Amino acid sequence: MFSKILIANRGEIACRVIKTAQENGIKTVAVYSDADSTARHVRLADEAHHIGGAEASASYLRPDVILEVAIRTGAQAIHPGYGFLSENAEFSEACAKAGIVFIGPSADSIRSMGLKDRAKEIMEKAGVPVVPGYRGADQTPKILQAEADGIGYPVLIKAVAGGGGKGMRLVEAAEDFISSLESCQREAQAAFGNAHVLIEKYLTKPRHIEVQVFGDSFGEAVYLYERDCSLQRRHQKVVEEAPAPGLSDKMRKAMGDAAVQAAKAIGYCGAGTIEFIVDVTQGLEDAPFYFMEMNTRLQVEHPVTELITGQDLVDWQLRIAAGEPLPLAQADIPLIGHAFEVRLYAEDPENNFMPQTGRISHFSGPEESTHFRLDTGVEQGDEVSIYYDPMIAKLIVWDRDREGALRQMSRALEHTAVAGLKTNLEFLGNIIDHPAFAKADLDTGFIERFRDDLMPQGKQADHATLALAAMAELEPHMVGRDPWDWSDGWRMNLDLSTHLTFIDREQHREVMVSYQQDAFKLVIEEAELTVRVLRHEGTDLDITVDGHKVSATVIQNGQDFTIFHGSTVSHLHHYLPGAEGEDEAGGSGVITTPMPGKVTQVMVALGDQVEQGQPLMILEAMKMEHTIKAQVTGTVEGLALAAGDQVTDGEILIRIVEAEE
Ligand code: ADP
Repeated sequence: MFSKILIANRGEIACRVIKTAQENGIKTVAVYSDADSTARHVRLADEAHHIGGAEASASYLRPDVILEVAIRTGAQAIHPGYGFLSENAEFSEACAKAGIVFIGPSADSIRSMGLKDRAKEIMEKAGVPVVPGYRGADQTPKILQAEADGIGYPVLIKAVAGGGGKGMRLVEAAEDFISSLESCQREAQAAFGNAHVLIEKYLTKPRHIEVQVFGDSFGEAVYLYERDCSLQRRHQKVVEEAPAPGLSDKMRKAMGDAAVQAAKAIGYCGAGTIEFIVDVTQGLEDAPFYFMEMNTRLQVEHPVTELITGQDLVDWQLRIAAGEPLPLAQADIPLIGHAFEVRLYAEDPENNFMPQTGRISHFSGPEESTHFRLDTGVEQGDEVSIYYDPMIAKLIVWDRDREGALRQMSRALEHTAVAGLKTNLEFLGNIIDHPAFAKADLDTGFIERFRDDLMPQGKQADHATLALAAMAELEPHMVGRDPWDWSDGWRMNLDLSTHLTFIDREQHREVMVSYQQDAFKLVIEEAELTVRVLRHEGTDLDITVDGHKVSATVIQNGQDFTIFHGSTVSHLHHYLPGAEGEDEAGGSGVITTPMPGKVTQVMVALGDQVEQGQPLMILEAMKMEHTIKAQVTGTVEGLALAAGDQVTDGEILIRIVEAEE
């Protein structure tokens, strides 16, 4: 076994690999870009080396620099994680040449599976079923159209070099073929430098079921069962589970055997995934399944396999790369219980799932246990930058059966809170709690079909949530428990009442609060509520509203509240007349962001003369527009932002050099 390895990756997967390496007493070398000098993977590794600029192409995608670090630090092997260089045949080759073990398959295997047409050809020869279609060399539009007509619509045009859902076009009718072909080729050329396409039958009700395989250097291969990744949004996985619900043992074995056959066909060594598409128009029982592609690396969703088999797949990878045989024979691989994984993303579902950047001002979740695992590359206080994938963490649960695992996930999501940027947390909760999901009524169209149920409702905060915000706001201002003692500025007037205004999705919501005997009386939109505070510790707030207990996580950042209550997430801003709008400009000519947000408009350009008080740009934060005005008269000398840019708290927006008097 190795004594020291380098991890050529970042984020959660780098942390994940480091964990297993350290458990095995293997020293770890992290590499990092300018944007990651204090990232979690750097903090966890035994040593860390800077490899270049924030852009991936200047750091994590630099084989030469990474290899040089490996040689210099005496690392015997490199784990590439997923993404970045993990499926780069030249890198695998360069490692071999430098005498460093690439923890992954050979360059030949990567190449065989790298292009979708070649991969399908190899699989077909090996007797693995593939989706009917055209994979010819002739790319004349006329020929392609004739082939598509022959297959019968709908068809899917796929770039052979495509990946990550890019370079695919669904064509419903013959007359749309040519325009879709052209747009697909343009995208493929731009993204992959290869415009070659294949055409296949589009299955209208498919499930994505993939099989985890492992091969060793002795020519043996086994499968570690399947994962169902049918819950996708725009062909990208959102929720994964293992085993695939409803899959019979017979079909599990048939798919597993086909996957092993596929791995053996290319003499595969290491961890790989054979993705199948299953036509479930007639149900899952004996449904036809077809090879789609092979991913020659560890997958994002590998933890669900680990939880149902009790195996550590990174440990398997390390052993096999070190030349050991497969740790278990096929018959000895257990399959126990059920596991789910959800991908928690910094993105805004209400704004077309736009990626979000910024500082994670709060991140809390359940304790890890046999039922719950958290794989993350960030902690509270860390940044989600514009440079990399905005996945914050993976939440993974296990239980004895699917129903139990669903309950575990529902609970895990309810007890997870992230503030500072928007996430898909509520969207994930809506999927997990959806009745059709509980029934495992799955296919890749699920999210689109139930879109209206799954989208965070865009609803205004309910009264209980407003009551939580009001209590969170008022409570710290109390000196002791008696409201008569409330400190200055918050001292209620003689009749012991005050009123708070919250901005909730651009609407003002008024909350009248008065204290009567031992409870608060709240009046919200003519409803009267009796509220008592049971407990307020850190971000945990428990109150009763008309005798009903309401528990929430309330994160306060200045006047902004993020409230996690049940499966809903609400953003409220405590409006203080006089403190808003005008004060946003900084004192000097340097203006920084008052809060994380998005620049929606820039009204000035570099070199412009501006007058004090002149509007410079509009920032959207917390769904509100904030006009940033010049605090001084002068010239715009620093301006690096454009409309659409995300800005973090305290970032410099604009610099104005004051005009000489
Ligand atoms: P990528 O390499 O970009 O991830 P894949 O070939 O793996 O592309 O396909 C991604 C997803 O697209 C699949 O999981 C499935 O949801 C959908 N898909 C692919 N091929 C078909 C098909 N023939 N019919 C219907 N859906 C398909």
